[in-house]
Amino acid sequence: MSNYTLGRDFAQQLDKEDQLAHYRNQFHIPKDKNGDDLIYLCGNSLGLQPKVTKDYINQELEDWANLGVEGHTEGKNPWLPYHEFLTESMAKVVGAKPIEVVVMNTLTANLHFMMVSFYKPTKKRYKILIEADAFPSDKYAVESQLRHHGFDDKEGLVLWKAREGEELANYEDLEAILEAQGDEIALIMIGGVNYYTGQFFDFKRIAALGHKNGCMVGFDCAHGAGNVNLDLHNSGADFAVWCTYKYMNAGPGSLSGCFVHERHAHNKDLNRFTGWWSHNKETRFNMRGEFDQLPGAEGWQLSNPPILSMAAIKASADIFAEVGMEKLTQKSKKLTGYFEFLLNELNNSDIKIITPSNPNERGCQLSIQVKNADKALHHKLTESGVISDWREPDVIRCAPVPLYNSFEDVYNMVERLKACL
Ligand SMILES: *Cc1c(COP(=O)(O)O)cnc(C)c1O
Repeated sequence: MSNYTLGRDFAQQLDKEDQLAHYRNQFHIPKDKNGDDLIYLCGNSLGLQPKVTKDYINQELEDWANLGVEGHTEGKNPWLPYHEFLTESMAKVVGAKPIEVVVMNTLTANLHFMMVSFYKPTKKRYKILIEADAFPSDKYAVESQLRHHGFDDKEGLVLWKAREGEELANYEDLEAILEAQGDEIALIMIGGVNYYTGQFFDFKRIAALGHKNGCMVGFDCAHGAGNVNLDLHNSGADFAVWCTYKYMNAGPGSLSGCFVHERHAHNKDLNRFTGWWSHNKETRFNMRGEFDQLPGAEGWQLSNPPILSMAAIKASADIFAEVGMEKLTQKSKKLTGYFEFLLNELNNSDIKIITPSNPNERGCQLSIQVKNADKALHHKLTESGVISDWREPDVIRCAPVPLYNSFEDVYNMVERLKACL
């Protein structure tokens, strides 16, 4: 079925034909002891640094040095509206309207702020549904929300589990859960691309199912933003959150993105936590009088934001705006398809790819389960110059990122894996 063939020549040929190949040069690629490029397949954990990031941050350091407080209005990129410079490109990355998107806070914090508004339990409807292998921070966050509202965090947590002997969650099982207890579930909160299996969920289907049952629906898109076409607006989801340090390449611990569907943009009755940055921009600095809610996702901001972190996000967002998600996902499907082909050609019965084989149900990450392996294998792989990620008990996660990984990276990775096995 595939048009791929074996051999290094073929990888080099694909790199030659790749219209995005030159973007690799715009990133710092970590090096080994001899100064050679490492095979960096960990963009799902921490994306690499664009070379321009330093200039973007230096610009703000200079304005701060030269202008002091005046930088808020007189800087090259005035700090007062700085977050607005990110909105349009970020909205394009996640498939949303500008009014639906804001960059603020960090990811798990935003998840909590979204639950302040969209998890409003009653005695009868109070449960939260998440996928069984949810990212730990998400699970801890929803459990603490249950406790915060006085519910038992075990009884109130509904897990959407893969079937016995399977790795991927199944939509019929989700339907069955909602059939049985849909009227008790207040919120469905799913990791849009599961961090462990790489399964990209059908947002539209989950949102429709949730709404039909009277539940609010949100997605954590930490592994989706900059990786897959999220189409958040059309999905109908109530909210979504994501970080910018994975596929968005904005640096360790950088700020989070937040989506609130347009239908909630002007709803002043939604419960929320507020601060001066949620207040009408025109009258914010009068510092007196009644609170006046900003419409749209911006209205969930609390504080004036950290400009240095936002400068790194701007550097990355400008690259994404230039490339566009369409070209990016096109290359991504080809690159990950090639990776899958090479792994399958190993014909090793100890290796199983647990990520969906349908390119529309995954992003660039492949999660490779290695039977009877332990962390020693991952250590060997790292020693051989491949930076990947190990998840207990037996999974290697690898994410060839279309912006800076090459087909030859993928070829080299599989050759070295073969040698390590
Ligand atoms: C990476 C990731 C996080 C990390 O949360 P922070 O608040 O940024 O530390 C949380 N949830 C998911 C699904 C993630 O992939």
